[in-house]
Amino acid sequence: MPIATGIEVLAKAHEGNYAVGAFNFNNLETLQAILEAAEELDAPVIVETSEGAIHYAGAEMLYEMVEVLARKVSIPVVIHLDHGKDFNIIMAALRAGYTSIMIDASSFPFEENVRQTKRVVEIAHAMGVSVEAELGTLKGIEDNVSVDERDATLIHPDQAVTFIQETGIDYLAPAVGTSHGAFKYKGESKIDYERLKEVKRRTGIPLVLHGASGVPASLVEKAEKFGAKLAGAKGVSDEVLKEAVACGINKVNTDTDLRIATVGAIREVLAEHPDEIDPRKILGPARAAMKEVVKRRIGLLGSAGKANL
Ligand SMILES: [Zn+2]
Repeated sequence: MPIATGIEVLAKAHEGNYAVGAFNFNNLETLQAILEAAEELDAPVIVETSEGAIHYAGAEMLYEMVEVLARKVSIPVVIHLDHGKDFNIIMAALRAGYTSIMIDASSFPFEENVRQTKRVVEIAHAMGVSVEAELGTLKGIEDNVSVDERDATLIHPDQAVTFIQETGIDYLAPAVGTSHGAFKYKGESKIDYERLKEVKRRTGIPLVLHGASGVPASLVEKAEKFGAKLAGAKGVSDEVLKEAVACGINKVNTDTDLRIATVGAIREVLAEHPDEIDPRKILGPARAAMKEVVKRRIGLLGSAGKANL
């Protein structure tokens, strides 16, 4: 199928109360794993690249890879820029053909976030591209954090409404307690569900969850068995993720889980077959491991079988 826009896919998820998996990629094997998994489950899918991926491989290359592979599958595929902060990179992604852009000016004060986001929305919408923005600070909630501290980092529903009105964004990443990376929690993952539900009720648009990797123990154990050092890595539990989707999340980002699966599979091949020098034999098992991760994630999000709805 031709590449879909973000809002086409996410408006349906919003109406249907499920979430679409958004998976980060930098290379061919990861992209193949994501699309094969989504195709097998008949699920719409978002493939996303960071600015770092664009520095690594170039926006045109990343876009063309998606274009070629998306043509061979029968599910909607969106190509999205994750955490666009540099205006020039955002423009490069738009020129290359990306169909969804995240402008992340969340580290700036509210008015500046509005100003930068609005500028990107005007350009992207003129090109038929949908836009995600972020409000609040992505920081894990710990048990001992006070209400005031929580209020200082997490999203305010009132501000979310104003932000959407002033910027015209299509979907919003609200800070509700998750944070990036594999070492985000000391204890169990927590999300401020009441705040999330209030943001959903007041804004009425698709919502995005960042920092959502599960960091499954089985993946961590395998990687560590073959020498990786990931002690203390923790993610968002399956139960928390499902509850977040039930509270209004429609796009769930996953990067860390794919990385851990990759590292575990590559380490295993190298440890068990020290004579192996064929990159395909080294990266092939990583691709298979990532595919399993993607299938499992899509299963949790409720988007399997939703390709044509
Ligand atoms: Zn993120």
